[in-house]
Amino acid sequence: MHAANPSRKEIMKPTILLIEDNEQNLYLATFLLEQNGFKVVPARTGPEGIELAGRIQPALIILDIQLPQMDGYTVARELRQNAALKDVPIVAVTSYAMVGDRERTLEAGCSGYIEKPINPDTFRSQVEEYLKARPAGGGTQP
Ligand code: MN
Repeated sequence: MHAANPSRKEIMKPTILLIEDNEQNLYLATFLLEQNGFKVVPARTGPEGIELAGRIQPALIILDIQLPQMDGYTVARELRQNAALKDVPIVAVTSYAMVGDRERTLEAGCSGYIEKPINPDTFRSQVEEYLKARPAGGGTQP
């Protein structure tokens, strides 16, 4: 489980749960992530994402804020209700320009946010920053 011994992680591609209702955004983000060695599991609605997250235990969740029916803030709060997911980074994807909306994503339990439209040149490094920031684990589990 030490960061200095990455061999295990290289074999097991980190799984990213991508909750996004827009097909073009879903396609682009999936393409960029798979190109960089991640396994991507898509969800097109909040409830589907919440259900999948509990089942697959992703290494990271990318969450569109503008979703039909259940918005991303609500999805983030629901995800944080699941103790098994408490250390999983949730990265909001938002096109909102207002600072208050970004704060709302953090208040809802997101670890941070990436601005829409996704920038193909920086998306991978942005995602990897959140993966690195994930708590190392060990000793915190009951
Ligand atoms: Mn959307």
